Amino acid sequence: MNTPERKAWVKTLKPGDEVCYQTPGINGGHFVVTLVKNRTPQGGVRTLDGVLFNSEGRTSYYSSHYVHLEPYSEDRKAQVLRKQLANRARSSLWVLANNVNLSKLPDALLQEFINLEDKIKESMREPVKDPEPLEKLCSCGREATRVYTDPQFGGKSDVCDDCYDIEECQDQGSAVTGESYSAEECLEILKGRGWKSHYN
Ligand SMILES: [Zn+2]
Repeated sequence: MNTPERKAWVKTLKPGDEVCYQTPGINGGHFVVTLVKNRTPQGGVRTLDGVLFNSEGRTSYYSSHYVHLEPYSEDRKAQVLRKQLANRARSSLWVLANNVNLSKLPDALLQEFINLEDKIKESMREPVKDPEPLEKLCSCGREATRVYTDPQFGGKSDVCDDCYDIEECQDQGSAVTGESYSAEECLEILKGRGWKSHYN
């Protein structure tokens, strides 16, 4: 919410309206949910907990920190609490990194740290997705529906389902005999298994 938006919103407030604000402070201060107590003649708002906000929905804490009045919602509350949680985690990381003599901790606790780091890294890893076919044609001339990745060299090609089966069959041949099946051999093998394709 920018200043003009907040100003327009403050104008609409009446006693009993649910509002919130976030106080400054370590770890994001406090998230306060309160009600409008009354309007002031200058267009400001006094909340039930005794804070006076001006007509722009602003009040000052200490000398340099401004606090802004906001409409209360569950979403906003969840957003603020999440941010506070992240700030707390950040400050505990800082404390651990700067004030804890790790060599004095028991082995089990050190191992827990290492496990935690692994878990966090794991949670940040992007899921590996199979690349989408690029609306290309398969080498057989049909529309490509998937991507075949060469297990040996990692090369990728856009293929139709049928040619994918053949490519896979050729790979299997090399795994069993040490020599790749030819595409023709795979056609026979797959047809022998009752394979249904445009090659039948
Ligand atoms: Zn094909």
